[in-house]
Amino acid sequence: MNVLVIEPSRSMNAVISSILSPLGVCIKQAASIKRAKFIVENISDVDFVVMGSELEDGTAKNLIKYLRQLTATSHSPVYLLTSNDDHDAYAEFLGKGITEVFQKNKPGEFFEFLKNKVMYINNKKKVHGNILYIEDSEFEAILVEDYLTDSGFTVDTFDCAEDALTAFEEKTFDLVLSDILLKGKMSGLRLLLKIRSLAGSKSQIPFIAMSSSYDEVRKVELLSEGANDFIAKPALCEELVARVTNLVLNQQLKNQVEVQRKELESLAMLDQLTGLYNRNYLFRSIPEKISESIRHKYDSCLLVVDIDKFKLVNDTYGHAVGDKVLTAVANAILKCCRDEDVVARFGGEEFVVLLSHCDYVCGLSKAEEIRKSVEILEPEGLTITASFGVTSIQSVAKVKPKFEDLFKLADSAVYKAKDNGRNCVVGSNELPKSAEVIRRPGE
Ligand code: GH3
Ligand code: MG
Ligand code: MG
Ligand code: MG
Repeated sequence: MNVLVIEPSRSMNAVISSILSPLGVCIKQAASIKRAKFIVENISDVDFVVMGSELEDGTAKNLIKYLRQLTATSHSPVYLLTSNDDHDAYAEFLGKGITEVFQKNKPGEFFEFLKNKVMYINNKKKVHGNILYIEDSEFEAILVEDYLTDSGFTVDTFDCAEDALTAFEEKTFDLVLSDILLKGKMSGLRLLLKIRSLAGSKSQIPFIAMSSSYDEVRKVELLSEGANDFIAKPALCEELVARVTNLVLNQQLKNQVEVQRKELESLAMLDQLTGLYNRNYLFRSIPEKISESIRHKYDSCLLVVDIDKFKLVNDTYGHAVGDKVLTAVANAILKCCRDEDVVARFGGEEFVVLLSHCDYVCGLSKAEEIRKSVEILEPEGLTITASFGVTSIQSVAKVKPKFEDLFKLADSAVYKAKDNGRNCVVGSNELPKSAEVIRRPGE
């Protein structure tokens, strides 16, 4: 990143260098207009300019017009440092082409701004993305495609919206840039409406519409139909790249936040030791599963599994071995279940399993299958067994059971299994008393 600092004060130069250099900025310094002109004439691009209002051989006002005429600085932001806080002077500076004015007597504010500016530009330079571009004028298409590819974007260009829509459905893009009048029967506006009406997050892709500069009515129409931005044709390279970059960067940041949110959400639902779902997830998901089971009239079963004499494992072999045993038993339970079943660690050495589309008899035999697989597992070379309680959500039930009630039934069956000498399955199929009454048509 190139930054030009035109400032005669050595101390100010030193402070600016100490801020920008560690951020990887290449700083070009000049104290006079003459030196600044020499630098700008021999450099291809400048990311931004910092300029003092009084220079060794003139003032900033004498230099700004010149900077705006040269390619390297014609579109670079120019930040002026001045001791003059007069409002008219401020307006005059802006009118002459200065981007923003900062007060020398508030250096902290300016230095903070500099740091943020560099970080923002660095982020922008890292932006790459796939652009879906639709333009029926070959000349315009080649020009815009060049602007975008030179700025690091990948561009798929089409001359009609129908083909572009097919590509949009098949591939992942970061932004759509579309002309309005196109070759086929579909206009750019139609394409926008089609995309916005799709299901899922794809419909929210940033969309920039392009049209002739005099098309004011169309511009408003497009924006109100969901276009994120509008660019008048012929497009100015710097404006186009800046608008595309901003939208792609925003979208990518949004996507990043969404990925992080999902990661956090799933972390909050998972048991860290075994990787199974945790208690939080159970309380969220089981009521929904119970409702589905009743509404669609299929049976499901709830199993509670409790490892036998587990305290003895910890006491004899240590907590670390205990943890490995827990993980191995968790995997054994998971292996016996189907993908749509819910397998969770309820706490300690206790697990809960919800078996969908499984009646009471099937639940008892599934519990027996898991019991056997735990018995022969021998994790860490130890013989481990578990006790099982089974209850069912019957589709014919006249009451809709609550998770807490079903859990109590299965858990008390586990107690019976412990009383029966452990390592066995006990079923309990009484309907819970405190359940909500289900009304069926005609009843
Ligand atoms: P029972 O057959 O009657 O169920 O006996 P038990 O020893 O399995 O039951 P108890 O409730 O007395 O002990 C459960 C033990 O589980 C006590 C506790 O230290 C241990 N435990 C709970 N969570 C963890 C864990 O995350 N890791 C390890 N290693 N042990 C745990
Ligand atoms: Mg056209
Ligand atoms: Mg136990
Ligand atoms: Mg227990």
